[in-house]
Amino acid sequence: MDWMDLVFPKKCVGCGHWGKYVCDSCEVGLWEEEQICPICARASRYGLRHTYCNRSPGLEGLTCLWAYEGIAQKIITKAKYNYYYDFLGELLVNSPLFFARPEYTLFRRFLELKPVVVPVPLYFKREKERGFNQAQVISLSLSKSVRLGMKDCLVRVKDTGRQVGRGREERLKNMANAFALNPKFPIPKNVLLVDDVWTTGATMNECSRVLIKAGAGRVWGFVLAR
Ligand SMILES: [Zn+2]
Ligand SMILES: [Zn+2]
Repeated sequence: MDWMDLVFPKKCVGCGHWGKYVCDSCEVGLWEEEQICPICARASRYGLRHTYCNRSPGLEGLTCLWAYEGIAQKIITKAKYNYYYDFLGELLVNSPLFFARPEYTLFRRFLELKPVVVPVPLYFKREKERGFNQAQVISLSLSKSVRLGMKDCLVRVKDTGRQVGRGREERLKNMANAFALNPKFPIPKNVLLVDDVWTTGATMNECSRVLIKAGAGRVWGFVLAR
């Protein structure tokens, strides 16, 4: 135990026991999610988009760690609304070993291109309300664990509100022109775009479209859960 644990003792999100954010018995409740094509959302072993989906603009591939249920859902929801964003890091701690899994083969290959980690931005009012952007917290954790640089290359210029309860078409329409480039940074050659949860992909595909239109070469997505 290091001194940080004494000053800020960790408590399991699942059962409340002290010691770890996710104790060994609750960790059993974390399920790996099947990788999908970011365009049509059908299964795709390495998270790569299908060749028949190639005509649509958006992400080249998507890496998703967990199923958005059970303990993973609990951690993400708690982090979002209760400031416990250390929990998010907990989902990534064992990543070097974790990423050795065969379904992350193409993701690992993409990391070799040294992409810049870019978080999906929040609208400034929402970020102010919440006090932080959860995608940025995950980006920081991830960029440290895989040793990549992180830049806030995008800004959200439209308050898109909550996507929950909206149909696919409506979500896509709502996302149009929601993002712009952050003039503070040059366009990275390759981008690893990061968010907490994947639902329809409308948000991430729109971000990707903006980056590619501006000259980014390849954009791969990364989410904690879907
Ligand atoms: Zn527990
Ligand atoms: Zn597809």
